[in-house]
This record gives sequence, C-alpha cells and structure tokens, in this order.
Amino acid sequence: MDAVRKAFAEANTVEAGLFSFNSKGACRQCSGRGEVTADMAFMDPVTTVCERCHGDRYAPDVLGYTLHGKSIVNVLALTAEEAAQFFTDRAIRRKIGTLIEVGLGYLTLGQPLSTLSGGERQRLKLAGELGKSGGIYILDEPTTGLHMSDIDTLLALLDRLVDAANTVLVIEHDLGPDGGRHGGRIVFEGTPTQLLQAKTSTAEYLRRDLDRTVDHEQ
Ligand SMILES: [Zn+2]
Repeated sequence: MDAVRKAFAEANTVEAGLFSFNSKGACRQCSGRGEVTADMAFMDPVTTVCERCHGDRYAPDVLGYTLHGKSIVNVLALTAEEAAQFFTDRAIRRKIGTLIEVGLGYLTLGQPLSTLSGGERQRLKLAGELGKSGGIYILDEPTTGLHMSDIDTLLALLDRLVDAANTVLVIEHDLGPDGGRHGGRIVFEGTPTQLLQAKTSTAEYLRRDLDRTVDHEQ
C-alpha cells in the first residue's frame, strides 16, 4: 500500500497520506471506518453504512485524484490479477506477482485481512517469504484446517522455499497406532530413510509418494 499511495501522490502532486483511510484521506463523517454506529440508548447500537462516503472510507474529494483514470477506491477494488495489468511500477508489479504465484490472484487489493481464511492468510505470509534464501522455516502443523486443494498449494510453496536454498522443518503428528483413544503413542523416531521401513500411516504415504515420483522419472 505504501508504494500504491506513493504512485497516486506522484501522479497528482499531493501528499501520500491523502490516499490512506487511516490518515488524512479518511472520510470525516465515519473517520475512515465506512460505517457509523448509532447509540440507541436502551437498545443495541445500530451500525449503518456511512451516508457520506457510502462505505468507501475515503473523503469524497480524495476520489477526484486518479492514477491511469482510476481513483484509489477503484484501485482497491481491483483483484491482484487485474492490478498486475494496471500498474506500471516495477516494485508494485513484483509484489502483486508473488500474490498471484501463491494462488491469491483473485483477492482484491483492499480486502481486509480479517475476511481471509486460514489457508489464505498462510499463503499471504509465505508470499512475503518467496525470493528469500538461506532461511530456516519451522511450521507446526501447517495443514490443520486447510482444504485438500490448499494443502497442494502449500506443499508446492514449501518445495519452492527449499529449491531457493531454505531449510523447511514441518511438524505433523503421527501418533498411533490409531486415531482417537487408540492413539497417543509415538510410533516412530529416526531419519526419513528409516521411516520408509516403518509400519506407520506416514511411512505408507511416503512410500506411495516415492513410488509415484520414481514412476514419473521413468
Ligand atoms: Zn464515511
């Protein structure tokens, strides 16, 4: 957002703070919240869309400043995919490019973080790490609560981190011999190679996956 605000400020020769709804650009009626809460005395307070900015959060005069014909509100409504076509600034394009790479190209630039799912938030964090090298990442049960398709995206991202010379340590529990009241015992300790010989669910899937990889290579 800093770079986006700067691009708007330069195109209009005004200060960058105008393009922040937390700062000078805030709608004065709702202080940039986009909604107004009315105290109803003895009843629960009622929240309505701000009638001055109609939920845009910005002071109406800020919307008169444009970049390539779009106001800051128009730009925040662009998806990452659309924004990649719209911006010419190289730094902005690079950041948007990583969003698309981690499969978040459908999010709009202005989407509040609180509306993202667990998988989306995780990918957003990892997007910031792409391009770095020599780091160590420790992930504790990163697949908890993720959809199967999100897990595939996550694994592809972890592979990329490793390919870029980072170390990734993933902690997933394999307590057995079964789930629920039959579980709770540590079923294996050792190296990944030794794990291949073990009788655990993880070992079984690891063997299957390796078989698949070998098939691919042949
Ligand atoms: Zn307002």
